[in-house]
Amino acid sequence: MAITDKIYLKNHRQISSQLETNIPKSAFSGATLDILFQGEGLAKLDDATRERVLDFAEDFLDCDCESNPHCGHPEEKFVRYLLELREQGLGPDAIVDVMGDDYVLYAYPGDVLSFLDDAVRTLEAVEELADVEGHESVATEARERRRRLS
Ligand SMILES: [Zn+2]
Repeated sequence: MAITDKIYLKNHRQISSQLETNIPKSAFSGATLDILFQGEGLAKLDDATRERVLDFAEDFLDCDCESNPHCGHPEEKFVRYLLELREQGLGPDAIVDVMGDDYVLYAYPGDVLSFLDDAVRTLEAVEELADVEGHESVATEARERRRRLS
């Protein structure tokens, strides 16, 4: 399961009751994206929640794809957001705190930790393969990105 399947709405019950409909807890589930981010849904939210939901939409759902928000780009952007927080030196607990403040989202720190471990392992594999095949610049880039994440 991708990390974006394990990102949840922090005050899910409150949001559901404001929307007067039961939406899935998972932030990136298709139904959540549809209900929460359509105009009518947004209008029913309290100000503080609406502001963060709008921030989320602006930061992650802003592509022009025809199938937006179901085109995969929101998930990709969110993965990049997590990696950037890690590169700023944040650990899993702090990353969970920040996504809560930024977008009223939460995840389990253990899930964030294994996501970051996987990212580092993927870069290691890229680095090794690039070394073997003599792609020096690719190997160097993977090494540097890995260093930034650890
Ligand atoms: Zn897209």
